Amino acid sequence: MSRSLPALLGAFLLLAGCASVSHGPAAPTALPPPAAQVPAVPADDNLNAVAWAQTAIEHDLIYLETYRSAQAQLLAALRDPAWDALPAADRVAPARGLKPAVVLDIDETVLDNSPYQARLVRSGGEYNEADWAAWCKEERARALPGAVAFTQFAASHGIAVIYISNRDQSLDQATLANLRKAGFPVSGPDAFLGLGTFVPGCEQDGTEKSCRRQLISRKYRVLMQFGDQLGDFVSAVANTDAARAEAAAPYMEWIGRRWFVLPNPTYGAWQPALFGNDWRAPREERRRRTIDALRYQ
Ligand SMILES: [Mg+2]
Repeated sequence: MSRSLPALLGAFLLLAGCASVSHGPAAPTALPPPAAQVPAVPADDNLNAVAWAQTAIEHDLIYLETYRSAQAQLLAALRDPAWDALPAADRVAPARGLKPAVVLDIDETVLDNSPYQARLVRSGGEYNEADWAAWCKEERARALPGAVAFTQFAASHGIAVIYISNRDQSLDQATLANLRKAGFPVSGPDAFLGLGTFVPGCEQDGTEKSCRRQLISRKYRVLMQFGDQLGDFVSAVANTDAARAEAAAPYMEWIGRRWFVLPNPTYGAWQPALFGNDWRAPREERRRRTIDALRYQ
C-alpha cells in the first residue's frame, strides 16, 4: 500500500464534501408546483393602496403626527379670538365671539374603513351602496391613530367636536354608535351633521359640505378642520385637477395650522378627476385614462 489510512480517509471526506454541495435536482417534494397548478390571483387596481393604508406603519405615524401637531397648537388657536378655519365663502356670520369648535370628517379621517376596502379587493368588486351600508351597520370601524386623543382633548377644553359626514342618512344611528364605541366624544345638538342635514337658505349641491359649514359658521368659531378629501375643507367649482388646485391655493398658509389633511390613496375625488368623473366607463377604460394622466417627466 502506497497510501496511508489518513490519506484515504481524507480522499473519502473530500468526495463526500463534493457530494454535499452537488447542484443536482432537489428532492421531488421540494419542487414548486407547475405554473398551471398555481391558482390565479386576479389583479386589483386598489390592492397596494389598501395594503398600505391598512398595514404600513407609516400610515399610522402620519395620522399620529397630524393629530399630535394639531393638539399642540389647539390652545393657542382657542386663545386667539380672530382665529377661524372656515373658508371665506362658508363664513356667513362673523366668527368673533362665537363658541369654539373643531370640525372633522368621519371616514378615513377618524374612522378606518380599510376592512371594507379589503373585502372589495378580495371579491373583485367595486364600491356599492348596499355592501357599504352593511359594513357601516357592523359598527366595527376602528379609530384612526391619534384621533380619539385629539377629540377628547378638545372636548375637555370646552371645544365643540363636530363631525360632518357624507354617509347616507339611513346610516346616522350606526355611525354615531360606531363613533361612541371607538371612544370618540359625541355630544351636543350639532355634534353630527350628516348628508341629509337641512340648512335653511342654502341649496345642497350633491355631497358638497359647504352648506353644512355655513350652518356651523352661524354658531361657531372653527379652530381647525380635518379631512382626507379637499371637499372636507373647501368646495371646488368642478372636480378637475385644475379646479381642485385652484380651490386649495388661497389656503396654503393654513395647512398644518388650521387645516389638517390626511392621506387616502384608496378612494376619493382625486381618482375620478383623472378619468373625467365617468364612473360608467368600463374599468379598463378608467384604468387607461388614469395611466394617461400620469406625469412622465
Ligand atoms: Mg373621508
